[in-house]
Amino acid sequence: MRIAVLGTGSVGQAIAARTAELGHQVTIGTRDVAATQAGAYAAWAAEHSEVGLATMAAAAADAELVVNATSGNGSLAALTAAGAENLSGKVLLDVANPLDFSAGFPPSLTVQNTDSLAERIQREFPHAKVVKSLNTMTAELMVHPRQLADGAHSVFVSGDDAEAKRVVTELLVSFGHTDVIDLGDLSTARGAEMLVPLWVRLYGRLDTAIFNIRVVR
Ligand code: NAP
Repeated sequence: MRIAVLGTGSVGQAIAARTAELGHQVTIGTRDVAATQAGAYAAWAAEHSEVGLATMAAAAADAELVVNATSGNGSLAALTAAGAENLSGKVLLDVANPLDFSAGFPPSLTVQNTDSLAERIQREFPHAKVVKSLNTMTAELMVHPRQLADGAHSVFVSGDDAEAKRVVTELLVSFGHTDVIDLGDLSTARGAEMLVPLWVRLYGRLDTAIFNIRVVR
């Protein structure tokens, strides 16, 4: 599959490296290619020459599946730069969390209860097929879940399009996930995003990001 990963941070790098390793054709999207190449990204890129780097729009234009791995506060701007026409009809896997760090740690949610970042993205880009997933765990576990307890921890998917959720679920299984829970339509992403305040408090307590939620039933 041709995949665009919008985002050059630890999530973008983890998903890009893993999907490329699995044989997909992967391009990372960034706002300013030259600035990104001149920054900390360069060291990672030197070890991942199979992953391309392009503007948000150029990365998305060519892709069959687009991953939103941008800062929650910048996601709508990043997707606008990617271009509605380049997202239309495509699966848009949204991994972002709407976190506000302006008052320090722990961050607060900028949208919650009656709305979610995923739904905001869907409203802004009605022709994209938004699926929320992977936002409830650290980047490394998203793509290498078996690092922890045989991967028997849970990952959630939310979305309005059944086929798009099937495509994302297949990708998650290819990463090694074994407990993929379909929460339902995209409004259920509120629950997945509102788990993040619990995650950050566990992180503060456990002093490691290598942990996850397992739904025992
Ligand atoms: P991040 O530092 O949150 O985001 C970096 C990316 O956001 C960069 O590619 C940057 O673009 C883009 N960006 C920032 N502000 C922007 C703006 N105003 N307009 C357009 N783009 C903007 O990186 P991250 O830690 O990898 O996290 C990515 C997303 O995943 C976040 O929403 C985060 O909450 C979520 N998440 C992270 C983890 C984790 O383990 N870190 C776990 C779960 C969920 P440039 O490349 O142009 O600089």
